[in-house]
Amino acid sequence: EEKNINELLELIVKRLRPIADQHEVELILETFKPVTAQVDETKLSLAISNLIENAVKYNKEDGWVRISLNSDHKYFYVKVEDSGLGIPEEDQEHIFERFYRVDKSHSREIGGTGLGLAITRSAILMHRGAVKVYSKEGEGTTFTVRIPLSYTP
Ligand code: ATP
Ligand code: MG
Repeated sequence: EEKNINELLELIVKRLRPIADQHEVELILETFKPVTAQVDETKLSLAISNLIENAVKYNKEDGWVRISLNSDHKYFYVKVEDSGLGIPEEDQEHIFERFYRVDKSHSREIGGTGLGLAITRSAILMHRGAVKVYSKEGEGTTFTVRIPLSYTP
């Protein structure tokens, strides 16, 4: 079904704002143009929410999370950037595996089951999309999501 992706992101951000406030992390949503696409709203919302939740909880005090939306004639793109702890190079290829968590004391103190990103990846793959991670330990992390504007399951 054709969905308004700008609205979908606004709803997610509105829902996660209280959690970000608790962590004293600033949430910024940047949308460059209106985007509509054929998506499973529930699955896509969960996929993006998991990315933003991570960006908030693996952040620093007074950190920020920037979510942006863009598109071209074929795809839309959601980027979730954070000013957080970052992910060590050797862990980056594993974080989408079920139950995988980075074994760092500062990250271990933060609760979680290690399922969020596995759910995110399967929802994005279901949309014939792709998700990538770019990160530097101690500096921050960026997840990029690319999803076709129209798909048939
Ligand atoms: P869950 O999401 O199931 O509550 P989780 O957050 O530990 O638990 P994932 O969301 O799958 O699980 O993330 C896997 C691991 O990747 C995390 O434990 C964390 O170590 C690392 N990670 C994920 N996102 C980030 C991020 N934005 N910054 C730093 N580390 C991250
Ligand atoms: Mg998570």
